[in-house]
Amino acid sequence: MPEQTNPFAIARQQLHAVADKLKLSAAMIGFLSEPEALHVFTVPFARDDGRIEVVTGIRAQHSFARGPAKGGIRFHPDVTIDEVKALSMWMTWKCAVVDIPYGGGKGGLVIDYKALSQGEKERLTRAFARRLTKVIGPDFDIPAPDVNTGPQEMMWIADEYGHFVGHPEPAVITGKPVDCGGSLGRGSATGRGLVFCVERYFENHGMSLKGKTVAVQGFGNAGQYAARLIAGLGASVVAISDSQGGVFHDKGISVGAAIDHKTRTGQVAGLDGRAISNAELLELDVDILIPAALENQITGSNAGRVKARLIAEAANGPTTPEADQILFARGVTVIPDILANAGGVTVSYFEWVQNRQRYYWTEEDVNSRLREIMRRSLDQVERMAAEHKCHWREAAYLLAVARVAGALRVTRDL
Ligand code: GLU
Repeated sequence: MPEQTNPFAIARQQLHAVADKLKLSAAMIGFLSEPEALHVFTVPFARDDGRIEVVTGIRAQHSFARGPAKGGIRFHPDVTIDEVKALSMWMTWKCAVVDIPYGGGKGGLVIDYKALSQGEKERLTRAFARRLTKVIGPDFDIPAPDVNTGPQEMMWIADEYGHFVGHPEPAVITGKPVDCGGSLGRGSATGRGLVFCVERYFENHGMSLKGKTVAVQGFGNAGQYAARLIAGLGASVVAISDSQGGVFHDKGISVGAAIDHKTRTGQVAGLDGRAISNAELLELDVDILIPAALENQITGSNAGRVKARLIAEAANGPTTPEADQILFARGVTVIPDILANAGGVTVSYFEWVQNRQRYYWTEEDVNSRLREIMRRSLDQVERMAAEHKCHWREAAYLLAVARVAGALRVTRDL
């Protein structure tokens, strides 16, 4: 993979870009440039036809400086060790931006998970969980959902972990079903947190969201909730897409109908409107662009053609450093992933706290605490960007890396 699109090369580049301003020592940079621990497993599982297939499973624990490692698990055929390492580093910064007491972790299975039967999914997830049990724990590393995983997968993993330690231990993983110790509001948290950020941004700039046009690339959990909630504030979602393509409608798309259609048919194609590609969606003449799919969508080759004035990243790593420079020079504001999509891990933190307290909060409580954290974090990043005259990603890094390095300076000689 070329350096410009290798997520781990990008993650290191982003870290190194703030090293001078933060006066990080060479030892500190070296320490933060790699995960503290990396686990690679062979995971055998039985296919429905009786064949045993062996899949690669990965868990990277980038940092324990501010608390246990925390971060999701994705099941996707394009997962690589470098991608998981990058995502684990991004989790460290994300938890630090919103100031929750975790380090960063990430996991993955290299598999076309969507193509498996339900039985295969369960056998594979449980087999991976049996590998993971040795390296995770409620005080050590707490996984969560990510691309193609959700409450069901979390529960299979929690169940295997419970068998391993001999008692139920819901705090080992977050994003569980509400009936099994999950938190109210966790399902919508990533999209909701992003919309809280966008709302606050508009407020800070004395502007209204009413009638603003929005394009959402990716229609999984984060994209669906972001679209639904931003439409609820009066914005008009004019384009959505998924891995199979997208649709544009200048009068606006009914997000509720789009979610029903996607749930029924597995895709957004077929909805009323003009069929468009993912690449076209990114260049539409809209006010707000929400990339909610995978990495490397806005790059040096298309950033010059992005027309939105505000990009809010629901996905992790959708914009390359080259694109960041181009967008910054063109006056486009990017609310970076480590801030914009931090609502998910923030409510994961709430879930973990509730699990440990054995005391559960109302949905209103969850949402209002989330709102407070997202608004405060957005304000801090915005102030930092103004102070340093830099783009918001750099500002978020300045805030986050300073917090992590601060913790490391106290505990280690770095
Ligand atoms: N996978 C999500 C993320 O990238 C959530 C992580 C979590 O809840 O721990 O932020």
